[in-house]
Amino acid sequence: MAHIAIIGGGPAGYVAATAAVQSGSQVTLIEEKDLGGTCLNVGCVPTKALLESAEKVKKASTFGIELPDGQTVINWENVQGRKGQIVKQLVGGIGYLMKKNKITVKKGSASFLNSHSILIRNGGEKETLQADKFIIASGSEPVQLAHVAFHEGTVAALRVYIAGNSLSWLNRIAGACAIWRRYPDWRVFVCGEWKSADHR
Ligand SMILES: Cc1cc2nc3c(=O)[nH]c(=O)nc-3n(C[C@H](O)[C@H](O)[C@H](O)COP(=O)(O)OP(=O)(O)OC[C@H]3O[C@@H](n4cnc5c(N)ncnc54)[C@H](O)[C@@H]3O)c2cc1C
Repeated sequence: MAHIAIIGGGPAGYVAATAAVQSGSQVTLIEEKDLGGTCLNVGCVPTKALLESAEKVKKASTFGIELPDGQTVINWENVQGRKGQIVKQLVGGIGYLMKKNKITVKKGSASFLNSHSILIRNGGEKETLQADKFIIASGSEPVQLAHVAFHEGTVAALRVYIAGNSLSWLNRIAGACAIWRRYPDWRVFVCGEWKSADHR
C-alpha cells in the first residue's frame, strides 16, 4: 500500500486525504495550525457567519423591526462567539472525517529533507516522516508589494477584521463588495444580495 503524505489540512489537503484513502493509500496529513485551513478558520466560513449577523441588522426593517440609529445595541462579543462556535463545529467535523477515514493527522510544520522524507517540527519536537508520494497543499499567503503596504482596507488585513473586537468592522463587512461563493451553485454574494454567476 502506497504511503501518501499531505502537507496542509485546508480544503485542498483534507479533500485530497480522503480521496487518497478511498483509492487505497495510507495517508498522513500534516497541519501546522488548524484543520480546515484558511477557508474554515479565517476565510469563507467566518466571513459568511459575520455577514449573516450584518445582514440581520441590514434587513431588520423588511421584517418589521426598526433599529433606530444610536439605539441599536449589537453585542460584538456574541457576534464573534457565534462565529467561533460555527468554526469550531466545522473544524471538529474535519477532525472526525479524518478519524473516520483512518487518516493520521500530525501537528507541525513540514519541510522537505529529500524527495522521500520530510521533517515535521512541532515546537521543540522534531520527527522525520517518509512517504512514497507527497501532496503539497500548503495554500498561499498574501505578498506585500513594495509601496503598497497592507493597511486596514486591504483583503490581506481581513484576518484582523474577522477576529477583531471592534464593532466598526461589522459595518464595513455589511457594506463590503463582492464575496464570491464558488461552490456548490456558482452564485455570488454582492453587497448583500445573492446573484447568479452570470452577473459577474
Ligand atoms: C477572507 C476570505 C474569504 C474567503 N471566502 C471564500 C468563499 O466565500 N468561497 C471560496 O470558495 N473561497 C473563499 N476564500 C478562499 C479560500 O479560503 C481558499 O481558496 C482556500 O482556503 C484554499 O484552500 P487550500 O487548502 O489550498 O489552502 P489553505 O486553506 O490556506 O490551507 C493550507 C493549510 O496548509 C497549512 N500549511 C502551510 N504550510 C504548511 C507546512 N509547511 N506544514 C504544515 N502545514 C502547512 C496551513 O496552516 C493551512 O492550514 C476566502 C479566503 C479569504 C482569505
